[in-house]
Amino acid sequence: MIESPLLKQLDGYIGGQWAESAGTERFAVYNPATGDVLAELPMMQAAAVEAAIAAGQRALKLAEPYPLEVRRRWLEQIRDALLAHKAEVGRILCLEHGKPLPEAQGEVEYAAGFFGYCAQQLDALNSHDLEGRPRNCSWTVHYRPVGVVGLITPWNFPIGMIAKKLSAALAAGCPSVIKPASETPLTMVALFSLLHEHTEVPPGMVNLVVGKPSMIGDILCEHPAVPMLSFTGSTEVGRLLMVNCAPQVKKLALELGGNAPFIVFEDADLDAAVDNLMANKFRGGGQTCVCANRIFVHRSVAAAFAEKLVARVRALRVGDGMASGVDIGPLINQAGFDKVRRHVADALAKGAALLAGKHPDDLGEGHLFYPPTVVSGVTRDMACAREETFGPLVPIALFDSEDEVIAAGNDTEFGLAAYVFTGDEARAARVIGALRFGHVGWNTGTGPTPEAPFGGMKASGVGREGGLEGLFEFVEAQTVPRG
Ligand code: NAP
Repeated sequence: MIESPLLKQLDGYIGGQWAESAGTERFAVYNPATGDVLAELPMMQAAAVEAAIAAGQRALKLAEPYPLEVRRRWLEQIRDALLAHKAEVGRILCLEHGKPLPEAQGEVEYAAGFFGYCAQQLDALNSHDLEGRPRNCSWTVHYRPVGVVGLITPWNFPIGMIAKKLSAALAAGCPSVIKPASETPLTMVALFSLLHEHTEVPPGMVNLVVGKPSMIGDILCEHPAVPMLSFTGSTEVGRLLMVNCAPQVKKLALELGGNAPFIVFEDADLDAAVDNLMANKFRGGGQTCVCANRIFVHRSVAAAFAEKLVARVRALRVGDGMASGVDIGPLINQAGFDKVRRHVADALAKGAALLAGKHPDDLGEGHLFYPPTVVSGVTRDMACAREETFGPLVPIALFDSEDEVIAAGNDTEFGLAAYVFTGDEARAARVIGALRFGHVGWNTGTGPTPEAPFGGMKASGVGREGGLEGLFEFVEAQTVPRG
């Protein structure tokens, strides 16, 4: 079992207090590197979710909103608390997610950046008057909090994903009811310990519920006092939430799945492309929504690119994220492991060549460590080209022309992240413009940053997180013409 000063309470949090779920059925949280149980959390009941929403309603201030300076102080306090406890929050994150400890601690810093950014930019939410007097009126625009919001997060960034949502929700003055992923709820409990101990965020502004996802999701979708839901996770669940929110026409912010193309033209700096692919693809063991999922390499440089890449991939160290020198931890669970195995097996059965890694038949049983794998000769009928693999598989496909690779890159229902490597500015402008993805790295594999809007096109979602666009996600503009 995990011991931590930030996990003295293993419960939900409602109305400024730890919930008391003694006697409630509990679910286990595992360390994916060892299979050990880290802790058990309660399966909170519907009444607790309702109580969390009610606490949010009491904290919501519409007539006399929390002043911006007060909200700025909350945001700065959270940023500071996260940075001060980076080591311990990162340790908890590493233990329940499996990613290497330095990467886990880096995620805590990344999360703190969203609170810092919103604190800095908060003045953008001030009311303002329009210039002139259209329709013979003066016009004022106010940015009102949407109301009590439901925030649902996935396991792949246990602190990063909530930071994006909660920073903007608090900036807007919205109370929230937060549901973390059941695989990684302990990082969230640690965040609530920090909120409780180190901030002046008032009771009811932040509430934590854990337990059966469909029950919690249904209540958040159906409750009339929750006008907005912000969700990060799979497109499948995102679609369901859209349907369930439709009757009340609720506002939705959805950060969903990806299937990122990583395109290497013949004029690219191949060493830089390989460096960036390594950093991008193997972060979180390949379990990020912005991970390159389909690697398209121009036929004329494919052999040279593959040679450089394979040498780097073979040098990766796989192991327990708590051990030093580890590059890749375990996958999150057996289903995640089996999906990667299925994608590799399917690619090999349909004619791809194994350049690095193991044949799926040679994988040992009883652990979640998937060997980093490279296959080449990938075609569009293979599962790894159609679905998000979410694991350490690099599938390489060849292309001959710009038009061909634009069409292939866009040949997916997803539109989250894409990457283009070329030294030709005009080509980059053409290709980036034609790619239907919300985030397109040019000669970089970097993912999002607090300062820039991030989000998906097509089935990858609705809305943006980060940047000024993200700051405005949880407000409603209210326009007041005055005669
Ligand atoms: P998931 O299965 O959709 O789960 C995400 C969250 O939704 C979890 O908290 C889960 O709870 C909850 N959930 C499950 N069923 C629900 C329901 N019926 N109603 C309400 N909530 C429900 O996704 P995941 O496997 O955790 O995350 C991986 C996916 O997230 C990938 O597709 C990835 O691309 C995507 N992602 C996207 C972004 C982005 O920015 N676009 C970022 C990160 C991840 P339980 O854990 O209790 O099941």
